[in-house]
Amino acid sequence: MQTVTSLKAYKANVDEALRNRFQRQALDNFAVTYPTGRANAFAGMNIAELVDKVADIKDRALGRMDELYAQFKANAEKKGIHVHLAATALDANAIIADIAKTGRATRIVKSKSMTAEETLLNHYLESEGLEVTETDLGEWIIQLRHEGPTHMVMPAIHLSRHQVADLFSEVTGKRQETEIERLVKVARRELRQKYVEADMGISGANFALADTATIGLTTNEGNARLVTTLPRIHVALVGLDKLLPSLEDALHINRVLPRNATGQQITSYVTWITGPTPCAVADSGRKEMHIVFLDNGRRALAKDPVFSQVLRCVRCGACANVCPVYRMVGGHQYGHIYIGAIGLIITYFFHGRDKAKNLVQNCINCGACKAVCAAGIDLPRLIKEIHARIQDETDHPLSSILLGKLLSHRKLFHQLLRTAQKAQAPVVGENGYLRHLPLILSKEHNFRALPPIARTPFRERWPKIKPSVANPIQRVALFAGCVQDFVYPEQLEAGVALMTRFGAAVDFPMQQSCCGLPALMMGEKTAARDVARRNILAMRGSGVDQIVTLCASCASHLKHNYPQLLADDPAMREAAEQFSERVVAFSSFMNDILEIPADAFRSSGTQTTYHAPCHLCRGMGVRHAPHELIRKAGLAFVPAREEETCCGFGGSYSGKFPQISAQILESKLADVAATGADLLVTECPGCVMQLRGGAEKKGMKLSVKHIAEAVVQTLEKT
Ligand code: SF4
Ligand code: SF4
Repeated sequence: MQTVTSLKAYKANVDEALRNRFQRQALDNFAVTYPTGRANAFAGMNIAELVDKVADIKDRALGRMDELYAQFKANAEKKGIHVHLAATALDANAIIADIAKTGRATRIVKSKSMTAEETLLNHYLESEGLEVTETDLGEWIIQLRHEGPTHMVMPAIHLSRHQVADLFSEVTGKRQETEIERLVKVARRELRQKYVEADMGISGANFALADTATIGLTTNEGNARLVTTLPRIHVALVGLDKLLPSLEDALHINRVLPRNATGQQITSYVTWITGPTPCAVADSGRKEMHIVFLDNGRRALAKDPVFSQVLRCVRCGACANVCPVYRMVGGHQYGHIYIGAIGLIITYFFHGRDKAKNLVQNCINCGACKAVCAAGIDLPRLIKEIHARIQDETDHPLSSILLGKLLSHRKLFHQLLRTAQKAQAPVVGENGYLRHLPLILSKEHNFRALPPIARTPFRERWPKIKPSVANPIQRVALFAGCVQDFVYPEQLEAGVALMTRFGAAVDFPMQQSCCGLPALMMGEKTAARDVARRNILAMRGSGVDQIVTLCASCASHLKHNYPQLLADDPAMREAAEQFSERVVAFSSFMNDILEIPADAFRSSGTQTTYHAPCHLCRGMGVRHAPHELIRKAGLAFVPAREEETCCGFGGSYSGKFPQISAQILESKLADVAATGADLLVTECPGCVMQLRGGAEKKGMKLSVKHIAEAVVQTLEKT
């Protein structure tokens, strides 16, 4: 559970987590196998349609939250279930403690519930003198260790069997062996007695069905069945967001939930409970059943036009499974109570700004979470929204204010870059990289060599290279982005040469500037909006068919974020949508629109691997075109493991969290090295900077190029 209040302290915790080798290995192993397990579980199914339907079911239920609660309560009370509504976490805990006291219950068994984690229920009940025993194996382990879960589905994934054996030896007073089967037997033996002795069982619920007052639980261990059946009192703590109209809705969600969570077609147990059952140990001969619905901000959140979608979450944990940052630091650093991408957002709503303010900055914006979310939640966008909201509610750091102001003033920004270019001369080494970095950056940022600012930016080269194409088949405006314009102009020159060779007339509107993504990443939404407006106006009137960019991050930002940023601006909304429709990534333009032929290239046979930039493969949905370009250009393609996993750059992210950036890069370069390729190509200047600089620092014999540079080199001369 992450609780520190300063960013400095948070970074220190992150550093410590990075040194936890076992956790890193365990999370890595799971991250590598998870995509295949998920794909197999969904084989033959249309995942996008399934997810859309989950989103639709949840959105409609959230819009009827109060009505569904009233319906559930009325139906439940007819069946003898006591229904309570808790406004806050504290209220929920107090209600449950009161049920225990009234029912003379002192020993409680509990099954896994993230809602109970949210309310810190165990701590409360223990402070009231009640004995609570977690019965899910992972939850029991972390309870014994007095810590929170590191994953929503696998709470003890960070622990080795040796650590668990030591823990169980301490608990049982007897040395326990380390085989997993034996450890499971120890837990079973210890816990079985607790079920028999318990007066009360507490569960959560995955679903609450209003039409029949049924709760549904999906589990793998069977402990929830014992918890809900053996003791004479059963209390279910359920978030209001779990309410659904009917079983049909729950069954649809349950087709997606286990497949997305752990790659299972169905969990070992799916339990439906509709009212109290006969119970021999109860005085009345019937079980006493209570359902405590938790609001804790959910009713307000369900009405929030931007954030209500977070309540669609079905707690599958997939957004953590694929997150490159979670994979490095684990759930104790990547969440307060809720973990992974969803945790970064809902921590703000359920646990307050102070708990969320550091976490929201630790997102590299790779989009992997959005791509696997079982409920289609636009997680990366909402993380940026929360970051901006927190900064608006508190103070914007000086660095982000300055960045926002600078990016909003194109001439000033470009002048600063030109001045920096002149000032950098003494620190540019013979190898073409900066020799040393400013003192404040040098130590932690030393994992990659950094390029200098180019002597002549692309915009100053343009008047000389501006090509003319007779009878063009496409008219294109080139969007450069600041890194290619001022650091890698040769990438743009290669792109222009290829586009014109295959019949596109290229223009470069001079009023364009940085795309504004760095401002948005720093929580400067006003500046990001301002930059978006300026770029749209810069491109307006160019009369082009497409706006092509060789930077994947710019492409995705221009295409998806501009319309969102300007949705509330009546003067710009339509222009932003028209602008966005014309944005296309370079490889997509060359392969899918210009359909360039393979016979225009000579075969070099260079062993070539590819890194898929996050904002190209997931942001733009471009996966096939770069592979095709590599093939057409006569390069020998060798696929790398985890081609679509982030390289660790993330723009300003790598400046803020260099330790994590360095570790992600290390993994990526290891996968590249394993291919034996001589050439690594990618389609984003940020990825080139990270990968080329990292390869240089490691002394790898690897050439790292933008795909345009690699492809232009095998072009047959005309
Ligand atoms: S965008 Fe990437 S880094 Fe950010 S939370 Fe999602 S998966 Fe993690
Ligand atoms: S946000 Fe999406 S991926 Fe993450 S736990 Fe919720 S449903 Fe699963």
